[in-house]
Amino acid sequence: MLELPFSSPVDFEHCVTCEAPAAAGHWFVFRGDQLLVEMGPLERPSDDPRVRARPAGARLPLQNNHNWLGGDPSRTLYLGRLRGVDCWIAELPAAAEPPGGMSWQGLRTLFSVLEDAHFALAGRALQLLDWDRNHQYCGRCGTPTEPRREERVRTCPACKLSAYPRVAPAVMALIKKQNQILLARSPHFPPGMWSALAGFVEPGESLEQCLAREVEEEVGVRISNTRYFASQPWPFPHSLMIAFVCDWESGELKPQAGEIEAANWFEVLQLPKLPSKISIARRLIDAVVEEIKGTNDV
Ligand SMILES: [Zn+2]
Repeated sequence: MLELPFSSPVDFEHCVTCEAPAAAGHWFVFRGDQLLVEMGPLERPSDDPRVRARPAGARLPLQNNHNWLGGDPSRTLYLGRLRGVDCWIAELPAAAEPPGGMSWQGLRTLFSVLEDAHFALAGRALQLLDWDRNHQYCGRCGTPTEPRREERVRTCPACKLSAYPRVAPAVMALIKKQNQILLARSPHFPPGMWSALAGFVEPGESLEQCLAREVEEEVGVRISNTRYFASQPWPFPHSLMIAFVCDWESGELKPQAGEIEAANWFEVLQLPKLPSKISIARRLIDAVVEEIKGTNDV
């Protein structure tokens, strides 16, 4: 099985309530989408067009309870246990200064710097904070909701509506045509970067139907022979990316106005700038490129 960034660490136990707090736990403290870490100066180059440089190392604070934060967090959640160590999530106000020797960093900057298991749990923590923040009141009747001790859910005491953490499935398609692959640019991509096509699943659609619709809408081509590749939790803010490889069947490239800035067939030996290895997009492209090179001796 392909281990992708943000996938659950094998030695992590998901829990909603801490029955007996141990001496010290890992603290995932956020201010907006930035995580509090102890880190050295920025010095490592980055493969991510969105990140200029990375620190040589970074680590999470290990503390007994939230008192060290020097103020009341907006919210505190229990995440679970990693190798027997409690993991806590806290959110500080937007203007909060970092404690001495620490700094606020975006998750993209911390990829490959923070220990893999901590990085994955930071993504999970970011999603749970987003859910908790957005479901303080019942969406049906407006009553303040309450967390449940035994399950990750907030319920309304008045009308009993339950709000579970939301996961939005999205599909990704890398389309092959002989020795070429189809890459496209969305208007929000960093300059020069190209990637596979992707889109959110609509209510009532299967993944295969979503894939066929998205590809036809975005670039005007039809596909066949769809094969599952892998999936990746994507915490910006709460997606599950499900990636496929498929073959071009028919149609000329016609980028959808407003959605796709450009789309092109690329020879595997002449690829443009690709997304960082943090994303399944890059793993998918790398795997298909290797497969084409291996079978065609290009
Ligand atoms: Zn309600």
